Amino acid sequence: MERQGQPEDHMRKSIVRVAGALAVAAALLSAGCGRSTTTEATGGGGGSDRSGTVGISMPTKSSERWVADGNNMAEQFKTLGYDTDLQYGDDVVQNQVSQIENMITKGVKALVVAPIDSSSLTDILQRAADAKIPVVSYDRLIRGTANVDYYATFDNFKVGVLQATYVVDRLGLAQGKGPFNIELFAGSPDDNNATFFFNGAMSILQPYIDSGKLVVKSGQTSFDQVATLRWDGGLAQSRMDNLLSKAYTSGRVDAVLSPYDGMSLGIISALKSAGYGTPANPLPIVTGQDAELASVKSIIAGEQTQTVFKDTRELAKAAVQMTDSLLTGGTPEVNDTTTYDNGVKVVPAFLLDPVSVDDTNYQKVLVDSGYYTSAQLA
Ligand code: BGC
Repeated sequence: MERQGQPEDHMRKSIVRVAGALAVAAALLSAGCGRSTTTEATGGGGGSDRSGTVGISMPTKSSERWVADGNNMAEQFKTLGYDTDLQYGDDVVQNQVSQIENMITKGVKALVVAPIDSSSLTDILQRAADAKIPVVSYDRLIRGTANVDYYATFDNFKVGVLQATYVVDRLGLAQGKGPFNIELFAGSPDDNNATFFFNGAMSILQPYIDSGKLVVKSGQTSFDQVATLRWDGGLAQSRMDNLLSKAYTSGRVDAVLSPYDGMSLGIISALKSAGYGTPANPLPIVTGQDAELASVKSIIAGEQTQTVFKDTRELAKAAVQMTDSLLTGGTPEVNDTTTYDNGVKVVPAFLLDPVSVDDTNYQKVLVDSGYYTSAQLA
């Protein structure tokens, strides 16, 4: 992992990202996607090319973010003039492969794919390439194939940095407080993002673990020991049950690094079963990701502590813009051409900026931006 997450580096990247996001917005506006009444003809393809079907292959409906991603893309593609075939794989790799196979057979013009298992699409994407169907990797990197053209995602390393920095700040570690006990969780080992999140978090936590200010009483600190297949909240819950009964017969856990909201809620259930969540024995700091409704409500209720918001409307926009450029003879906009090596090639990427959310800023970030209504959070 080469990324160091230095502030200047982040600031420079943020500026690039803001510029990139503006360009995406401009592209969508010029394509007639916005509500602006002024239409500027800014290159790109003409409306006449925008026909046919785009295949959208998403991993699962069990997490609300993917439902939002799929719906946002379908809506935006339709506004541009395309039809869409939106399919969910129920977290079963073979379902996803069959669904993509059907899309290829039906003659889709392009594929947008968030893989269930990053490395299981090599054969099917060879068939897509043979049929000259361009492929955009969505949120999760497709690995092990040259047949992926572009990648739209968030700064995945930064997601982990935000989670870990939150823990460090809340515990006052930089002010010399501690030692504190922490337990670590990572996402699915077959999802390329999971390593990025974990490495990002460990880039912040490791120095405190090394100095003894953070103690992992279970001793489980490697990615393999803490990974959670398919990001399963039930699995996270049972692992937390085990950790509490084996490593915490004395002492308490002060923080839990959780990479995803669905796992955070499972972890919180285990903690409550073990007696946490009372004034005498408060819940530890528990991080998360995706700002899913149940977790935002949990944050408001004072249970989950933090989440990382990744605006699926913006990610959908970036992927739609990339796909549209590919189909209309343009060049998709990217802002990262070094980070995402899929084992065969470095996939040019457009990275968006994730945002840390807790009870102090959810109103501004999630409600004022229109992502959720106040009524949804009540
Ligand atoms: C996504 C996260 C999500 C996780 C579980 C990851 O690939 O980037 O946003 O929390 O999958 O669905």
